[in-house]
Amino acid sequence: MTHLPGHPYVHRQDGELWIEQLPLAALARQHGTPLFVYSKAAMLAALAAYQRGFAGRQATICYAMKANSSLAVLQLFARAGCGFDIVSGGELERVLAAGALPSKVIFSGVGKTRAEMRRALEVGIGCFNVESEAELEELSRVASAAGVAASVSIRVNPNVDARTHPYISTGLKDNKFGVAHERTLHAYRRAVELPGLKVVGIDCHIGSQITDGAPYLDAMDRVLDLVEAVEAAGIPLAHIDFGGGLGIDYNGDRPPAADTLWAQLLAKLDARGHGGRHLMIEPGRSLVGNAGVCLTEVLYLKPGEHKNFCIVDAAMNDLPRPAMYQAFHRIEPVRPTRGNAQRYDVVGPVCESGDWLGRDRELAVRSGDLLAVLSAGAYCMSMASNYNTRGRAAEVLVDGDRAHLIRERETAQDQMRMERLPG
Ligand SMILES: *Cc1c(COP(=O)(O)O)cnc(C)c1O
Repeated sequence: MTHLPGHPYVHRQDGELWIEQLPLAALARQHGTPLFVYSKAAMLAALAAYQRGFAGRQATICYAMKANSSLAVLQLFARAGCGFDIVSGGELERVLAAGALPSKVIFSGVGKTRAEMRRALEVGIGCFNVESEAELEELSRVASAAGVAASVSIRVNPNVDARTHPYISTGLKDNKFGVAHERTLHAYRRAVELPGLKVVGIDCHIGSQITDGAPYLDAMDRVLDLVEAVEAAGIPLAHIDFGGGLGIDYNGDRPPAADTLWAQLLAKLDARGHGGRHLMIEPGRSLVGNAGVCLTEVLYLKPGEHKNFCIVDAAMNDLPRPAMYQAFHRIEPVRPTRGNAQRYDVVGPVCESGDWLGRDRELAVRSGDLLAVLSAGAYCMSMASNYNTRGRAAEVLVDGDRAHLIRERETAQDQMRMERLPG
């Protein structure tokens, strides 16, 4: 039995790929392809690494649900004691439907609407992570009109380089996120004046797929400088939220384990005298990314003069990361392979040249074979679209030797349901 890199709950047994105690080929046969398959044990193990890291501390782990917002995944994390980091009113309705405690929900995002603010206040979320001075003013008006005070944390932009892809780097001063370091004290002074707000914390989030501890340590120093300045101005901060962003192994990436990273970060917090504070974090990708695979069937092999194409039934609408960020996903045959490997671009059926899942991959495949696209638990299904009127894939959650269908395959009828003909 050999485990796949980065995927402790996916292994090969007599050449066949398994997830936990089930062969992936059987799941594809039963539910069709493309199919997302998640390991419950892998998600809980990823969470446990954070929980170990925070043992003995006052800490709240808020799963950043945009990474994978399927109800069953949310329910699993709610039952495991997580709070949630949301970025829209739609996400709020999802976490409520999954049984989350509203008081453990924090609301991030640069463009909250008044309607979203009203609904979040009505259900009593824990905290708004406010991203601009204009939003402070608006939230105070909305809360005052509702006769309540909104608990707020200000998201500060520590201006550190997370050394990740520019589209997923969020802590540099030219990013749209957060309040600039230099404006932070001013923003807090304004927040305490506003009648509809109650200041409870400070937060930051510097980017995603971070594979090195150094940017976190830098950001922590910058945030702690601000904590000290804000409190020196007479504004106490009940919690400090360090965001999410820890990376996963897509292609030999070696991010620190969550508990190792937090041992380093907590040492710094202790050294600066802040170890006893209520800490919050917002991990997304690192809790779910390597708990999932996407199964796809090879439709056609198309040899070319310069390139061979392996055309599969999953596409950029199911797995948008390669098209969006030129991201890398490992692609593995599900069954033992026969014949000679050739070099292929693995592409989907969508009518876009950007519709590729992997480039220059050595594969020994024939039409009808199954492939597993790895690291497909985060930012795949939650980013999936209906482009080309392709129904979104089905999803299965595996727990030991049991498989639960957690989302049915979307039909063309499902897709047309909201539409009306004018006459
Ligand atoms: C996306 C996001 C996260 C989660 O990021 P990951 O890289 O998935 O851990 C956390 N906080 C905020 C504010 C986010 O926008």
